[in-house]
Amino acid sequence: MIGNKTLTMIKPTAVEKGFAGPILAKINEAGFKISALKLMKLSKEQAEKFYEVHKDRPFYNDLVGFMTSGAIVAAILEKENAVEAYRQLIGATNPDQAEKGTVRDLFGTNIQANAVHGSDSNENAEIEADFFFSKLERF
Ligand code: GDP
Repeated sequence: MIGNKTLTMIKPTAVEKGFAGPILAKINEAGFKISALKLMKLSKEQAEKFYEVHKDRPFYNDLVGFMTSGAIVAAILEKENAVEAYRQLIGATNPDQAEKGTVRDLFGTNIQANAVHGSDSNENAEIEADFFFSKLERF
């Protein structure tokens, strides 16, 4: 159902540091249903496409390089008002400014390696979910 879904990625540094399990546990504890899940490495082309909206930002090339530097975990999360609820759970973009106890506060390294991605609108949640998962991979 539209409005009840968000897409997250656990970013390479967080996966590398062994935080995928603890982050998924926090997601569960916060009442999200994980309806799709995969561990994968993005190609340069995939990362460029995913972050296309940021292509004119000064950090775009760094971000693409970072997001292709190691494995990521992608997941579709379901809950009422999922986009906003998940952005509250993860906190501000910059871990230094993220509220205490949020995912980015607990597991983020810096503004780029900020542990997780979360969709910023219902429309983008649908686009991003389709980017990663086929119908056969959703439950
Ligand atoms: P988000 O919606 O909170 O993820 O933030 P944005 O959509 O503004 O940015 C997308 C991603 O780009 C962030 O999650 C960071 O990984 C990265 N990013 C944002 N701002 C900066 C910045 O100033 N410098 C760098 N290096 N990366 C940034």
